[in-house]
Amino acid sequence: MATQEPQARIGTASDPHTRRPAAWRGVADADWNDWHWQARNSLRRLEQLEQAFSLGDDEKAAISALGRNSLPIAITPYYASLIDAEDPACPIRRTLIPSTEELHTAPGELRDPCGEDNDTVVPGLVHRYPDRVLLLATGTCAVYCRYCTRSRMVGGGEGYSFQREQWRQAADYIAAHPSIRDVLISGGDPLLLEDHHLDELLGMLRAIPHLEIIRIGTKIPAVMPQRITPKLTAVLRKYHPFYLSVHFIHPSELTPEAVAACERLADAGIPLGSQTVLLKGVNDTPQIMRELMHGLLKARVRPYYLYQCDPIAGSGHLRTAVADGVKIIEALRGHTTGYAVPTYVIDAPGGGGKVPVSPHYVVGQMGEQIVLRNYANQMYEYPDTAGRTEAPQAPSDDAPDDAPDDSSALRMIRP
Ligand code: SF4
Repeated sequence: MATQEPQARIGTASDPHTRRPAAWRGVADADWNDWHWQARNSLRRLEQLEQAFSLGDDEKAAISALGRNSLPIAITPYYASLIDAEDPACPIRRTLIPSTEELHTAPGELRDPCGEDNDTVVPGLVHRYPDRVLLLATGTCAVYCRYCTRSRMVGGGEGYSFQREQWRQAADYIAAHPSIRDVLISGGDPLLLEDHHLDELLGMLRAIPHLEIIRIGTKIPAVMPQRITPKLTAVLRKYHPFYLSVHFIHPSELTPEAVAACERLADAGIPLGSQTVLLKGVNDTPQIMRELMHGLLKARVRPYYLYQCDPIAGSGHLRTAVADGVKIIEALRGHTTGYAVPTYVIDAPGGGGKVPVSPHYVVGQMGEQIVLRNYANQMYEYPDTAGRTEAPQAPSDDAPDDAPDDSSALRMIRP
């Protein structure tokens, strides 16, 4: 009986050529591996997308319905090579090609779910927490994610502008506020800036004496690993302590090229943490999340945050129930190395900041015993007696028979 070759899973073929859609098989490696070529040849228009994928009627209708203020479409040829050209349910495809469900705004959905506009102190600078700020350095991304928290402002939407002249204003604000010790540069994707512009921005910030750490949030290693060049890492490594939060959502993103990009960054001494958005039909099972977290650790990226998807207008079809996220964390905690377990958070709508959400492992208290539940659902008691030197007093003979006995009654601790 003839045996069938197993199909290479999308995104994991070690030979990048086997992953390329037919239209790009003839492209010279020198071009394919050039990030400027990737940016120039991104898929943006319906006719380009139709050449790369078999689009369904719903996808075509949604693309045609995008207006001037809608989040645009951009997919680098490299990232397009990770997408199943035939299957609209392909996890990565769901996050990049709109469906008509995106056109419906459900109750509770907002255009600025995290209330960033209210905390904007100078153009492009959000100051919410006393000791740290968010600097939005650019409005451009290599790909546009349909679940983006900043879909109102990236890709040229709604008249937001991100100019280099604003960086000086932001730096002046930080310099005038000695309580600020940490800046997160985001956007848009800051690693889409040219090396000399990044150098200029990072240099401006590093010159502020009280600024201790600089961080960048980016999706570039997942969607355009060609951008992580030796020249770029040479720029970044000048500004230690410098951290990078990399955005990965699915194990199929962890191609040999993406892993090598992360390794180049790690070799430059840059601590890497991952940020993952929990998305329906993309990564909302414990198996997929475990595979992603293990793959990230192998690529020297420490899983950092798992985000509940923000209630952005038109995102209902991509959001899961919070209970699904809690189950995923429960399936990881104790079942795998602790480094592989991210903190699951909800960004509280309206500007409340990140609130951790986790399964309940402290189930109650009996007298001085804290009752704990472990990963295998077994109960244990911990003597919470720190600092006590005397023995507990024997119950008095005068105590009424029906007095409550705290030492044996399990008091539930409210989560
Ligand atoms: S890369 Fe980041 S900022 Fe850009 S669209 Fe995706 S989530 Fe939004």
